[in-house]
Amino acid sequence: MDRIGSYVTMLGNTPAILISSSGRKRFGQKLEHSLESAGMEPRFTEFGGECSHEEIDRQVAALKHLSIDCLIAVGGGKCIDACKCIAARLQIPVVNCPTLASTDAPCSAVSVIYTASGRFKDVEFFSSNPALVVIDTEVIARAPLRYLLAGMADTLATGYEATTCFNNSNARSMLGGKITLAAAAIAKLSTDTIYNHATKAIESVKCSSVNQSLEHIVEANTLLSGIGFESGGLAAAHAIATALTTIPHVDENFLHGEMVALGLLTQLVLESNTAEYDRVSELFIQLGLPITFSQLSLSLDNTSDLEQIANVACSLDFMANEPFSINPEKISNAMLEVERLGRNPA
Ligand SMILES: [Zn+2]
Repeated sequence: MDRIGSYVTMLGNTPAILISSSGRKRFGQKLEHSLESAGMEPRFTEFGGECSHEEIDRQVAALKHLSIDCLIAVGGGKCIDACKCIAARLQIPVVNCPTLASTDAPCSAVSVIYTASGRFKDVEFFSSNPALVVIDTEVIARAPLRYLLAGMADTLATGYEATTCFNNSNARSMLGGKITLAAAAIAKLSTDTIYNHATKAIESVKCSSVNQSLEHIVEANTLLSGIGFESGGLAAAHAIATALTTIPHVDENFLHGEMVALGLLTQLVLESNTAEYDRVSELFIQLGLPITFSQLSLSLDNTSDLEQIANVACSLDFMANEPFSINPEKISNAMLEVERLGRNPA
């Protein structure tokens, strides 16, 4: 982050920074110093907290007469997603500087848009990926561990979902293409990096210092998983995770990656892949990630919630990338099986 000015000069001289008020308190001086040292006069614009059409329109109206030549997002997933939408409307390049490694949103050309009250609304695709993604691993090492763990669950799923898509000639990536060897290999590397480096990266965050494993995990969570999901395709894991966001108390209290954790376990049960279910659940237990829906405060005894999740998941395109015919009953049975297995680990 100290060097962001020297990177941004490649894109222009008049950047604006989209950042929350708390983010500005933490990082404002450092950003200002770096950009000013590179001969720029940055403008700050305060992010309201939600990636909604209201917030995007408000920012576009405030920025469009300022002749800024790039927009820098400094913050979490919603700030980054909002930045992509605002910059697309202003037709200027995006620089993402995530302060958490909790999702694979920063490198992608996709944003998830919510209503002003935080409900999922729609997904917007852009004609190009962000121009630059800058991550300061020292910032990630000092962020709460829960975010890094959620990012690891999201990344672990990437390789499994891309493998499912790669092996199914009818499956398609986010942009409707077939899965290339490159995308499948990068997605697999995302997953392998979590297996190989998760434990050491956690030690790194626990002592707020940066080791090589944390560097690898940050690359996996952000770059590899970003390319892996966008070009490698999504499957049941993200269909279930998206469906879980329709249950308000789950959506409000849990992170995307925590929902993907349960989505991935459900995908492996649906695919009857017992060996990989065991491997994933063992890792989740070891890392402190959830393995039952009740750990997401969701009781599957509530049949209306269960039916709603199964119906929504079944209707999503990602689910159609699975190589078998699917219906809501199969999905709810797999979720019940995940709950049963998670409560009685081997
Ligand atoms: Zn994800």
